[in-house]
Amino acid sequence: MKRVLLIFLLLLLCSISPTAQKPDDAGERAKKIHFSSIVLDTHIDVTPRLQTEWKFTDEHATGHIDLPRMKRGGLNALFFSIYMRGTITGQKAVDDAKARIAAVHKLAQDLPDKVLLCTTAADVRRAHSQGKIAALMGMEGGHMINNSLPTLRMFAELGVRYLTLTHSVNTDWADSSGDQPKHNGLTDFGKDVVRELNRLGVMVDISHVADKTFWDALAVSKAPMVASHSSCRALSGHSRNMTDEMIKALAKKGGVIQINYLDSFIDNDLYLWSQKTQAARRELSQKYPGRENAAKIREELEKQFGPAPKASWERIVDHIDHAVKLVGADHVGLGSDFDGGSMPVGMEDCSKLPKITEALVRKGYKESDIRNILGLNTLRLMEEVERVSKQITK
Ligand SMILES: [Zn+2]
Repeated sequence: MKRVLLIFLLLLLCSISPTAQKPDDAGERAKKIHFSSIVLDTHIDVTPRLQTEWKFTDEHATGHIDLPRMKRGGLNALFFSIYMRGTITGQKAVDDAKARIAAVHKLAQDLPDKVLLCTTAADVRRAHSQGKIAALMGMEGGHMINNSLPTLRMFAELGVRYLTLTHSVNTDWADSSGDQPKHNGLTDFGKDVVRELNRLGVMVDISHVADKTFWDALAVSKAPMVASHSSCRALSGHSRNMTDEMIKALAKKGGVIQINYLDSFIDNDLYLWSQKTQAARRELSQKYPGRENAAKIREELEKQFGPAPKASWERIVDHIDHAVKLVGADHVGLGSDFDGGSMPVGMEDCSKLPKITEALVRKGYKESDIRNILGLNTLRLMEEVERVSKQITK
């Protein structure tokens, strides 16, 4: 009898012990969710590398992405940034942008069993079901259209699916967050650009723009907009980040904020340090121009101002969580800025991505919310932009 009672007690104990207490349960659940999801990053700056001898299919010790590390990180869809410094303008900007676009086209042509060039949400779903990387293109800076709507139409024809209205300097028709205000937001032509983007089914990207440009674009755009790589200013004061008011207004019109992982965007201490060192940084970047010198410039600054605070990858999750608390999980996504600057400790490259999903699982996020954040919100946004375009052109 005693034995029966003991067995009964043991069984009872097992049945009330929640399985969640097993230390690796959340990790396993996160892995399952992550590696079966469409994980779509809306801003990756690897594109210039595609124009060199660098091989997408090889694993590299430098940079933040390549095919083997994407596989390990479960990253299966990305917007290749058609990036260009804002100071390159005129026909040269158009020609250089075409060369960058051609490099993305060539990547897909060279690797037909691994990469699918996508221009619609349906294409991205198809790529995922075929086990291929979905390659999309977003243009980082309105200066590349050379003040010409026909040129914008050509880029849309070539497959570009978002246009960041400005990069770090003003264009002739829009103010940038990195420059002195000149146009009080968008000019009349700037508003025409937004209308044309709506018509073409190309997303209006408000990352990099001045706050007033954001509000002007929001008022004009008939389709929801994207912030392809911006974080939350309430957590870190960088002017490239969005205020709570902006995030709410973006979401209210169906838009999505894609959280940027760059260390100086997500960590306020590091942001304050970068403010303190700004003047010296400007001088150094004239002496050592180009993104390839970023590490060297930081080294020089640390010699002068002491070590820069270290940002942890966990701040990325803080920014996601802040935006989700503000506007819900349907309006938040991922826009890493991989290969576009310095990553926080623990997010050294795209192979570390599953950590974000695991952190969300541990925070108690629902599986459907996690899948939306990982990629489905962007697809819904693309579908809505496609629908608005059809409505305008019918
Ligand atoms: Zn950028």
